[in-house]
Amino acid sequence: MRKFKTESQKLLDLMINSIYTNREIFLRELISNASDAVDKLYFRSLTDESVSINRADLSITVSYDTNARTVTVSDNGIGMSKEDLDKNLGTIAHSDSFEFKANQAKNTPGEEKGLDDMTDVDIIGQFGVGFYSAFMVGKKVQVVSKAYGSDEAWMWESNGIDGYDLKPAERASHGTDVIVYLKDNSADESYDTFATEMGLKNLIKKYSNYVRYPILMEVTKSRQVEVEPAEGEEGETPAPKWENYVEVETINSMIPIWKRKGAEVTQEEYNEFYKTDFHDYEDPARTFTVHAEGTLTYDALLFVPAHAAYDYYTRDFKKGLALYSANVLIMDKCEELLPDYFSFVRGVVDSADLTLNISRETLQHNSQLRAIARRLEKKIRSDLVSFRDDDREGYEKFFENFGRNMKFGIYSSYGAAKGAVADLLLFYSAKEQKMVTLDEYLEAAPEGQSAIYYAVGSSLEHLAKMPIVTTVLAKGHDVLLCPDEVDEFCLMAMMDYNETPLKNVSSEDLGLTTEEEKKEAEEATEANAGLFDAMSEALGDKVEKVVVSTRVSDAPAVLTCEGPVSLQMVATMKAQMGEGAEGMPPIPVVLEMNPKHPVFAVLQAAQEAGDADKVASYANILYDQAMLVEGLPIDDPLAFAQRVAELMK
Ligand code: ADP
Repeated sequence: MRKFKTESQKLLDLMINSIYTNREIFLRELISNASDAVDKLYFRSLTDESVSINRADLSITVSYDTNARTVTVSDNGIGMSKEDLDKNLGTIAHSDSFEFKANQAKNTPGEEKGLDDMTDVDIIGQFGVGFYSAFMVGKKVQVVSKAYGSDEAWMWESNGIDGYDLKPAERASHGTDVIVYLKDNSADESYDTFATEMGLKNLIKKYSNYVRYPILMEVTKSRQVEVEPAEGEEGETPAPKWENYVEVETINSMIPIWKRKGAEVTQEEYNEFYKTDFHDYEDPARTFTVHAEGTLTYDALLFVPAHAAYDYYTRDFKKGLALYSANVLIMDKCEELLPDYFSFVRGVVDSADLTLNISRETLQHNSQLRAIARRLEKKIRSDLVSFRDDDREGYEKFFENFGRNMKFGIYSSYGAAKGAVADLLLFYSAKEQKMVTLDEYLEAAPEGQSAIYYAVGSSLEHLAKMPIVTTVLAKGHDVLLCPDEVDEFCLMAMMDYNETPLKNVSSEDLGLTTEEEKKEAEEATEANAGLFDAMSEALGDKVEKVVVSTRVSDAPAVLTCEGPVSLQMVATMKAQMGEGAEGMPPIPVVLEMNPKHPVFAVLQAAQEAGDADKVASYANILYDQAMLVEGLPIDDPLAFAQRVAELMK
């Protein structure tokens, strides 16, 4: 007996003992696996001449034995070798990145969850753990498989508890049989329905109706047969008799859902299709269809998921729509059909106009495909606009999931994507204390406001308290608070929104001060030249200069940057570049002093008294605390603490 890996073991325990109500999904999972296996063989036949199969022969068969209490799902797909069986079915961690998902569950903020604590039974349904769901209804599962091109078959067998066995077996041809031995009924649970014709037929129709390959089942039918009148009883026709016979029937409709008119399909059906085909546990947030006829004929069915896939924000994620030509899948994920900023969209596109044997290289240059992509992009955009306008709550949830991706799209296209997504973005308004669009921001702005103001920092709470933010707010202008790292990069790449410039409150001249105020500040700066020179010297290359501020009202001092790059952005870049950041050119940082703050008078007095040590020490304290207020790390926390302690003595 081979042992299961530990994590698999824990999950299996959960599965077997779960009171998970949707046990019936095991059939969907096994059929999906069978369909994938058939797909794999079909794909191979397209590229590998040594594989000769007839697509029409590819199928899935569901059978049952009421007496033996077994359900069997068979396919004539690619099959598994002994090694495949060992690797694929011996570790859950191997299946569909389960490990990753378990880790993710663990890392849900606020609640530490390990597999051990995953008693929340719904998790099983959420993870859609594929093959292992067979143990929700089965006390034993056998998998008999023969890999395509091999002449040996192997059987994997397990009770799902401590391990599994692998032994040689017999199978006529390539493919796999998964045989589930149903659990015994208990006082409150019955598994009988899974070994009946009606039970299985209903489940196939409910969950697997659109599987592309026929799902075959032997069904019992009755027919009337004429009974020959007995000898010598002419005239009297005896009543016909009923007789049962067995026929193989295709249970699933196979008519692709995207070919059907929207009005004929219920949302429920779309949801089931989405969950089955795209392996999601949650219904999609949006569903929309496109049926185009004319120079380019195609059907598309698109979904916006209700949550980001576990790998969405990783390098492993691959965008794309499934591409069919006349119902036949050409490609699982055709990237060319989706722009990066809408990479979260899932769905299928079916166009009879596309040739079947289209290769990746030719696809990129395929003008039909590009035309379809352009149309789809418009369609996605217009659906998101209605989403934003008609269901704001839902849209905000959507934006929490995918807003970052749209913002990243603007940044990575150097602003080129802004026409497509800028009006779909939401930012947190400091004034309204809720998410607003840039249009809403501008509509609410006072007459004559010439820019959109934003502030970047580590959290909303922190940003709301930043001195520069409160100063701009006090002047009657709203500030968009941007806690997301990508925000600043996105807004800088955008530069303006419909010609209104976007301004970072801490890095540019905000145009909020009058000429008079500016002149006053310049004069005050000059008048304090001695003090400011001494402070600059004490701070070394940390600052470019020290000046009297026009924008700070409460705090003693703030740090700003000359030019467009902010301190936040420098911190982000440093964090991302690590060692590589060493060579980054320094950015001109300005320490702006508030002349009305009592600390200013203290500094002036120290300067007059010729107390250079005090000026230097205070300059450093002011610099460090301004950094802290920005939510940025300080170079030497120990020195800061010592200076503050010195003050307190
Ligand atoms: P998933 O399908 O999410 O990867 P499963 O636990 O359902 O996870 O299956 C694990 C792996 O076992 C699959 O990725 C596939 O390689 C293999 N497998 C399962 N069922 C079959 C089958 N009927 N034919 C061939 N391979 C299969």
